[in-house]
Amino acid sequence: MLSEANVNKTILPGATIGVLGGGQLGRMLAQAGSCMGYRFVTLDPTPDAPCGQVAAKQIVAAYHDADAARELANLADVITYEFENVDAGVAEMLMKESYVPQGSQLLYTTQHRLREKRAIEAAGVRVAPYEQIESAGQLRAAVERFGTPCVLKTATGGYDGKGQWVIRSIEETDEAFATLSQAKTELVLEQFIHFDKEISVIAARSPKGEVKAFPAAENVHVNNILHLSIVPARVPADVLAKAEQLAVQIAEGLGVVGLIAVEMFLTKEGELFVNELAPRPHNSGHYTMEACQTSQFEQHVRAICNLPLGPTALMTPVVMVNLLGEHVDPAVQYIAQEQQKDHPDVTVKLHLYGKQEAKKGRKMGHLNLLAGNVEKALAWVEQSDIWKQ
Ligand code: AMP
Repeated sequence: MLSEANVNKTILPGATIGVLGGGQLGRMLAQAGSCMGYRFVTLDPTPDAPCGQVAAKQIVAAYHDADAARELANLADVITYEFENVDAGVAEMLMKESYVPQGSQLLYTTQHRLREKRAIEAAGVRVAPYEQIESAGQLRAAVERFGTPCVLKTATGGYDGKGQWVIRSIEETDEAFATLSQAKTELVLEQFIHFDKEISVIAARSPKGEVKAFPAAENVHVNNILHLSIVPARVPADVLAKAEQLAVQIAEGLGVVGLIAVEMFLTKEGELFVNELAPRPHNSGHYTMEACQTSQFEQHVRAICNLPLGPTALMTPVVMVNLLGEHVDPAVQYIAQEQQKDHPDVTVKLHLYGKQEAKKGRKMGHLNLLAGNVEKALAWVEQSDIWKQ
């Protein structure tokens, strides 16, 4: 809980924002915040990290290095983070030595699937039916009850589909249990949701309690990595309104400060189940950079600094396309070639994160395709072979 003094504390432009983590999310945060007059310092173990390239200073050190974190605290007026697996000891030390308006409770909750699900339910929002699993025998019984397929997940450390096993038959349960148990964390079994669409909503909340949600994005994943965000999402207006309201409910229920990304499954029947939360800017919010009145990055700065939140309305239909290592060179060529043509329908905004090595599957950048409607932007993607499997 923020103290009374911090509820009203405002961090004005000119102040320095410290960012734990120097990846692309930190970079785009620093780019947006620099425009607003803030200075940035980041901590990341990789020299010349994406955020380090645009910040006033990068401290090159491991995330759990207490001395380096103290240096970050001393240089910054306010601290934020761009990933949720912040070491608990470091978070506590930063809270003591500096000002961390987001606190450590939200990190503690979202670092662990079971805690996260309980918090979402406590906020009055549905998640897929689940059960904590402690033995192979219990898993077998739960799989029989849930039916197949169902999904076994590690409570911590999983991302982009890692740390999970889709159990398709009862015979797989022992192997699934043995494999995921190696992660040495609690396990959770979830009912498989036969979703029609995956959508996400990003909401922001400031210490003084102002809350605003961005329009819901329809997300398409390939190999468990986000491929496209389509906005407006192609779902009925009442479902969109409901999804946005659920994100606000979660932001308020969890006392969020800063951004919270809420990933949801939408069934054919129009039911919404929250899958995951991320207490930070999110890949599915990159579309806001050119398509909304305020970007998610500007909104995060506004929220943690306790400035009035910006308006979130969508100014144009948009499709965000991720550029992985294998996509960058052909995509840059494709954009150049398309620019020769008269293409009044689609405006292409290219964002690259300044990463040196374009490894396969590594997020190197993204495109925001602005168009009169999302079909035109999707046609632009589909007429190229770059993103075909
Ligand atoms: P996660 O790591 O929880 O974000 O899951 C990665 C992806 O796996 C999701 O984006 C879904 O496509 C799929 N998935 C995860 N959990 C479930 C579930 N309970 N039912 C159906 N699909 C799921």
